[in-house]
Amino acid sequence: DTIGANLDRAIAAFPDREALVDVPSQRRWTYAEFGAAVGELARALLGRGVAKGDRVGIWAVNCPEWLLVQYATARIGAIMVNINPAYRAHEVEFVLRQSGISVLVASLAHRTSDYRALVEEVRARCPELRSVHYIGDPSWRELLASASKVTVDQLAAREAGLSCDDPINIQYTSGTTGFPKGATLSHHNILNNGYFVGETVGYTEQDRLCLPVPFYHCFGMVMGNLGATSHGACVVIPAPSFDAGATLRAVERERCTSLYGVPTMFIAELNLPDFASYDLSSLRTGIMAGSPCPVEVMKRVVAEMNMAEVSICYGMTETSPVSTQTRRDDNLERRTGTVGRALPHIEVKVIDPVSGVTLPRGTAGELCTRGYSVMLGYWNEPERTAEVIDAGRWMHTGDLAVIRDDGYAQIVGRIKDMIIRGGENVSPREIEEFLYGHPKVADVQVVGVPDEKYGEEILACVIPRDPADPPALEDIVSYCRERLAHYKIPRRVEIVAEFPMTVSGKVRKIELRERFSGPSG
Ligand code: ATP
Ligand code: MG
Repeated sequence: DTIGANLDRAIAAFPDREALVDVPSQRRWTYAEFGAAVGELARALLGRGVAKGDRVGIWAVNCPEWLLVQYATARIGAIMVNINPAYRAHEVEFVLRQSGISVLVASLAHRTSDYRALVEEVRARCPELRSVHYIGDPSWRELLASASKVTVDQLAAREAGLSCDDPINIQYTSGTTGFPKGATLSHHNILNNGYFVGETVGYTEQDRLCLPVPFYHCFGMVMGNLGATSHGACVVIPAPSFDAGATLRAVERERCTSLYGVPTMFIAELNLPDFASYDLSSLRTGIMAGSPCPVEVMKRVVAEMNMAEVSICYGMTETSPVSTQTRRDDNLERRTGTVGRALPHIEVKVIDPVSGVTLPRGTAGELCTRGYSVMLGYWNEPERTAEVIDAGRWMHTGDLAVIRDDGYAQIVGRIKDMIIRGGENVSPREIEEFLYGHPKVADVQVVGVPDEKYGEEILACVIPRDPADPPALEDIVSYCRERLAHYKIPRRVEIVAEFPMTVSGKVRKIELRERFSGPSG
């Protein structure tokens, strides 16, 4: 199916069920209403002369119009380009030019970002950009008015000429390890992935998904939006950008059955001073993904958030995104301590990153994945594509993993984040997992910093539970001494109030490394 055809099935099967709820504005759409709104925008884009394969940018915080653009562009075979809402002028200019966007839909403003001012600043340098429409502004209504020029038959004619393998989306990676790369994806890539992720957690038209994760990222738009609509479930938008209290309030008021988040979001929710006052009894499941999911946090989510079936997904933008996922009937050990096993029609293997030889189960090496989910390539960057997808169509993830005898995978860390201290390879992940158990530690990131003697030294950046009583280096060292090999014990501790994050909710370790690369003190 194309994404349009798949949406039509949900509309036909569940016309009166809710498809979309925006909590801040209290606007609601049934599947029939949502389908009509998508159709109107699709015709409007046709009326503006958007051809198959043309790039349409979306630069917006979470809002209902985000989904309208997602489904309308897919419906007409345009390529939607997701733009990170945290971008500043030069970054948005890069994306507008690199992907050749002709029509841009943007938020007006959010918090400290005045999107209109930023667009106007760079517009003159983007010759391919023909029109910009700001959500909630007359320019948006003007765009919709173009729908009257186009008939339903003209839209159907366009749809008849689409193929599942056409590119319809350019998603930029999070930029955790460097400059983001634009992964080009087809209907087939992302619709199947959203469908199987939803199937694995058992979505039906009864489910209501609370999505505090940004739509610009695959977690929101594929695992969230497509995961929901491919099963007739409902998307609930708690707020334009992450807000822990608003998220739990939305779960309570909208009786959500599923809640998504990266680990730091769940940590923030669990640590809300009024956490106990929210009624989370409607929850059944949810997805944690995006970065290492600490076992302690997973256990608290199961026990304290009523999410007995919470699932961990592992994946990356380049693979649509999900490759492995825990299952509904997994025991607590698999559910909290692994990233699950391969989804249907996806293969995984672990190789020696240097020799490329496939390693036996139980051995750590670079995780590679293959299947329908592997992207078409990085947009306009064939050389970089060839660096990550080999001749056998295996995607080399850059992540270190172990595939156990039971087929369940564990992520050891990113190759780029591994610390080499005095010739010993140290996985920051292992130390972080351990330090989460320290009573004075709320959150922790471990990085390697340059050291004259050992090449790299281990630094723990700690967000303390109580800012008035942070752990001292001696606390950390004595805690580790009993349980960790001596070369894994952090020799420096830095107390921080927060970590530098990507918008998709990942800690930018490179920034921590740079910040603390001078001598301590
Ligand atoms: P960039 O490629 O631009 O540096 P990024 O890799 O963070 O950024 P994404 O595609 O958003 O961009 O994230 C994919 C990465 O996230 C994976 O390669 C992996 O390192 C990490 N990841 C995703 N899910 C998990 C998980 N469940 N456990 C551990 N790590 C995860
Ligand atoms: Mg990556």
